[in-house]
Amino acid sequence: MIEKSEHLLAFSFSTKGNTMALFFPTTSATRACHITAKRLGRMGVKGLILDIDNTLTSHDAPEPDKAILDWLEQMKRDGIRLILLSNNHPPRVQPFADRLGLAFEADGKKPLPAGYRRAAAAMGLSIKECAVVGDQIFTDILGANLAGMPSILVTPIDYDEPVQIRFKRVLEKPILWCYGKIRKEGGGR
Ligand SMILES: [Mg+2]
Repeated sequence: MIEKSEHLLAFSFSTKGNTMALFFPTTSATRACHITAKRLGRMGVKGLILDIDNTLTSHDAPEPDKAILDWLEQMKRDGIRLILLSNNHPPRVQPFADRLGLAFEADGKKPLPAGYRRAAAAMGLSIKECAVVGDQIFTDILGANLAGMPSILVTPIDYDEPVQIRFKRVLEKPILWCYGKIRKEGGGR
């Protein structure tokens, strides 16, 4: 007879159970600038909630590179609404947002869902009309799932990160492995 704790463990790591799926993105992209309005249209998405550090630029860099700047302009031309949602503080987020001419939510407290809801409301969109773009499973993606929003996981721009994030990267590995396996098998969320 299987012990109760083993049941729980099996459930937690079951790719068919809900627990692991809380950490899975809806889809992924190598870089944010690879996301097209056409792809968002197929997802029913009209607005993007964008993480900053390691999604649009490396940690604490004042401005994204040209590919991201061009992509942001293209998104605006394609009618995709944009807002920044960062756990970083206003002195980091505000000058970055001002440079790009974007609205923002600083101190977002991701993965708590309240910041995602505020960001959707600020764009005048419903939860399902927004997608979260971010590089971290335990903040960006978990929060999107808790808020009921689609999400797009991007590869971190730079792995030279603060030690607490490097620790989280280790914990992300088994989740990414499971997510990759499910995608290969044609399943997933
Ligand atoms: Mg990030």
